Amino acid sequence: MSPVRSCWYSNIENMIKNAKTNQHPASNGMSNKKILLTGIQPSGAPHIGNYFGMMKQVVEMQDEYESFPFIVDYHALTTVRDKETMRQNILNVATDFLAVGLDPTKSTLFKQSDVQEHTELAWIFNCITTMPFMMRAHAFKEAQEAKKKEITLGLFTYPVLMAADILLYDTDVVPVGKDQQQHVEIARDIAEKFNQTFGETFKLPKALIKEGIAVIPGTDGKKMSKSYGNTIALFAERSEIEKAVMSIVTDSDSERPENVYAIHKLFKTEDELEKLYTENEGKYKILKEALIEDIDAFIAPLREKRVQIAEDKQYILDVLEKGAKVAKARAEAKMQEVRKKIGVIL
Ligand code: ATP
Ligand code: MG
Repeated sequence: MSPVRSCWYSNIENMIKNAKTNQHPASNGMSNKKILLTGIQPSGAPHIGNYFGMMKQVVEMQDEYESFPFIVDYHALTTVRDKETMRQNILNVATDFLAVGLDPTKSTLFKQSDVQEHTELAWIFNCITTMPFMMRAHAFKEAQEAKKKEITLGLFTYPVLMAADILLYDTDVVPVGKDQQQHVEIARDIAEKFNQTFGETFKLPKALIKEGIAVIPGTDGKKMSKSYGNTIALFAERSEIEKAVMSIVTDSDSERPENVYAIHKLFKTEDELEKLYTENEGKYKILKEALIEDIDAFIAPLREKRVQIAEDKQYILDVLEKGAKVAKARAEAKMQEVRKKIGVIL
């Protein structure tokens, strides 16, 4: 057994035991660590926007917070309609998260569908949330404006399920990209509504949005998104990076190609870029080549680590299974409180 695995196995039973009593594994029952929770959809290959917008924060904060990064497969069902794609995406997202440094002895990595309390709580929230309130949500408005052919109830109530995800764990902070800020605000509003209606039950969470990288643009200048086909994948091969970077849309009436620069400053400081961009003003090809080098230098070691992790599929499945047990123990305790509050426990 690899050292990573044996260390993990020895910690995990303890984690499950402590989760049942809402105690952090490292605490021996004395923890007052705050709770971090955040989700990622298995809707495609994670990209550098996901990494800098969310995953990096989780990895950096996992010592300080009791962390629940999870794979929101029921959210992804609003777009993914093929079982093999769903299965492969779930496995890939888990592998990617582990490869960027998520430590399953510190963080609880799990998938949403393994903890049915999420959908149960979402239904309860559906019953206290109004249609006009939900019609203000960006994702729904954008789908309407884009005349998306299928606006499902799942898409419409997406933020309600997300509120359930967050509130079920008494979450303090939700590290996210700026696109998710409104959803965290909706979660706060729903928590307040529930608390006013049934009595104090839910903690009000806060979104943690990293300044300067709140919305990372994709190759077309719109928000980089798995579902828009405008991404630079987090584990892209060199040739894929080249193809993606060369396709970045540049604004012809600006001296500095803003979309290139916005991505470049994720990998270099603004001081470092100042010289490069001044010396090569208007030379978009040279600037893009420099960006390719910097992205590749960053991704190369991650790619190697990912290959090692992906070799042991059983390990990834075990991490998710044990993560589900830890999460489930907490969620079940909270749901029991909710069921009592709404009067369905006799
Ligand atoms: P989809 O297109 O399916 O919605 P996505 O790329 O938007 O996929 P999500 O799984 O919805 O990714 O989001 C995961 C996390 O990554 C969220 O916290 C989200 O705010 C963050 N994120 C996604 N895209 C960006 C981006 N372009 N810049 C910064 N953060 C981002
Ligand atoms: Mg998204």
